[in-house]
Amino acid sequence: MNKEKIWEEYIKPAKIFGNLYFIGIRAVGIHLIDTGDGLIIIDAGYRESLHIIVNNIWELGFKPSDIKYIVISHAHNDHMDCVRELVAMTGAKTFIGKDDVPLLKGELYRDCPIRSFEPDVLLSDGDIISLGNTRIRCVATPGHTDGTMSFFFDVTDKAKTYRAGMFGGVGTNTLKRDFMEKHNLPFENRQKFIESIKRLKKEKVELFLGNHLENNKTEQKLKMLETSTENPFIINSQNEWNAFLDERLYRITTIIDNNE
Ligand SMILES: [Zn+2]
Repeated sequence: MNKEKIWEEYIKPAKIFGNLYFIGIRAVGIHLIDTGDGLIIIDAGYRESLHIIVNNIWELGFKPSDIKYIVISHAHNDHMDCVRELVAMTGAKTFIGKDDVPLLKGELYRDCPIRSFEPDVLLSDGDIISLGNTRIRCVATPGHTDGTMSFFFDVTDKAKTYRAGMFGGVGTNTLKRDFMEKHNLPFENRQKFIESIKRLKKEKVELFLGNHLENNKTEQKLKMLETSTENPFIINSQNEWNAFLDERLYRITTIIDNNE
């Protein structure tokens, strides 16, 4: 992402389905849930894009001050850079995987400043985040980072309910030899990533959300939503979710096989 050209990050925010909305930027998926008893946002974006996120919330007819929970998928700046600003503005409670605390505190990566925040709730595998009409089940999926959390929750519109799912840390960039050696990370993280993918394959996902936009082709789907009667975020079989996970599995096995 070019922070000097932040306007290139703007995407028109939109309702995805029911009470679930996209408020993110090109560099990172950010989602808003209207629980009927306050707003939850999943991930928060770069500090430089804060005004875009705040604009998006207003543009969809919500008030940023109604954000009650900020849930972070993993402790990398692109997902949590502006959490402190959002907390200062809203008083929202913050959530992150417990095993990402060392990373959050800047103890893990060398020469790589983490724009930290004080988490209110440390998440463990199987925890439920509950607010209003929404219950988000957190699944520990370490690999990309130690504390990466994936999220599963029901979204309802009128009589229809779909199970939404997001893999919270998809990148193999932190599992490549150069990165791991530079930051003295254990190579077991690669096996953990593979095990996480296997766990995720067992999850039923009907509404596929992207932690990054390329995961589920968010931008193309948002465009399709404007004209199509079918909702492209709703996948009628596990195929798209499984294909995405298979592609991740292929990437990590290629890295291992080629000793990259
Ligand atoms: Zn990351």
